Amino acid sequence: MIVRTRNPEATHQLDGPLTVAELLDELDVAPHTVLVIQDGELVTAEHELPDDAEVEVRPVISGGAGAPGCVVCRKPPVIEEPRHRAAWCAQHFVDHVHNQIRKAIDRGHGLAKGERMFSYADRLLVAVSGGKDSLALWDALLTLGYRVDGLYVGLGIGGYSTRSQQVCEAFAEERGAHLHVVDLAETYGYTTVSGSAASGRAACGVCGLSKRYVFNRVAVEHGYDVLLTGHNLDDEAATLLGNLVHWHDDFLARQGPVLGGEPGLQARKCKPVYRLSERETAAYCVVRGIDYVVEECPLVEGNSGHEHKAALDLLEAGSPGVKAQLLFGFLDRQDRIAPDQREDDVEVVACAECGMPTVTEVCAFCRQRERILQALPVFGDQAAV
Ligand code: SF4
Ligand code: ZN
Ligand code: ZN
Repeated sequence: MIVRTRNPEATHQLDGPLTVAELLDELDVAPHTVLVIQDGELVTAEHELPDDAEVEVRPVISGGAGAPGCVVCRKPPVIEEPRHRAAWCAQHFVDHVHNQIRKAIDRGHGLAKGERMFSYADRLLVAVSGGKDSLALWDALLTLGYRVDGLYVGLGIGGYSTRSQQVCEAFAEERGAHLHVVDLAETYGYTTVSGSAASGRAACGVCGLSKRYVFNRVAVEHGYDVLLTGHNLDDEAATLLGNLVHWHDDFLARQGPVLGGEPGLQARKCKPVYRLSERETAAYCVVRGIDYVVEECPLVEGNSGHEHKAALDLLEAGSPGVKAQLLFGFLDRQDRIAPDQREDDVEVVACAECGMPTVTEVCAFCRQRERILQALPVFGDQAAV
């Protein structure tokens, strides 16, 4: 069906039939804030819209952000979200965040019909950095009753890393949750800073490869069913924009909130926060009393995703909802516009050095580590950072 939303003006193509309530849920629109119109007639929540319906969703609260109270209970709101044309009291904002996470788990993009990201029986591992997104995710999943442990990787980025580890440890202790801690320097002999200096690679490159490796290794070695990360809507939209600008076809084909694994080698990976903006995860932490590291990594300027985020912030300011429109619109059409063209005969094998997955003989992490350790004596002083 074709659905026209207004202010910002957009057209959505959705598969029907859907009830009006299901349609609004799909669009993340709070029912109290709109009228739904089919063929010039108003329709109500349980009305079924056929697949060939043409529908208009018309806002009734001017500006959206000016909602008079919580959209659920009408009490004074603590946060308003122009993208959802809604405002919530603290309790209903927490429900909203949990609902968005549940929607991602049960019906997220990239899931086959009836498939879920994970179930209550699965053992989950969430990679926590000390920042708002991953701690909000860990808190939400614990509250919703999932079996979920944490993993913190010490990257050796001075006081920022020290504080991040303390925050994660305090979070786990307060909730009686289990946290794995892996220190790059202790376990692998280098830090993000010394590794970058020794190899000549950008810090974020060394850091990203190391984190991904350790996340997967811990998940596989400890038998977790799914590895979770706190990538939010802003992160995913910025990554998408970067992949589009540079036409990284491979990345476009594989970008998504669900990535399948290889038993014994590669953990299944999911991003249950991809429907929430960073403003929402930050507000969730404040409302729930979660202490998180507000400062950014001091090396973030070297991260190219940063400028794409800034560009999208500009667009979002003038047109609330544009990030979600870009990301969800892409994920809806991904099979058509960025089909996965990987050859089926590319075999994932165990790395000859460490046993982790690779398509070459020795994995990229082991190759990077060897280069770093060979060069490190030259950078002996930096190795101690
Ligand atoms: Fe690592 Fe770069 Fe992120 Fe800092 S900004 S944590 S160096 S990837
Ligand atoms: Zn309320
Ligand atoms: Zn290896």
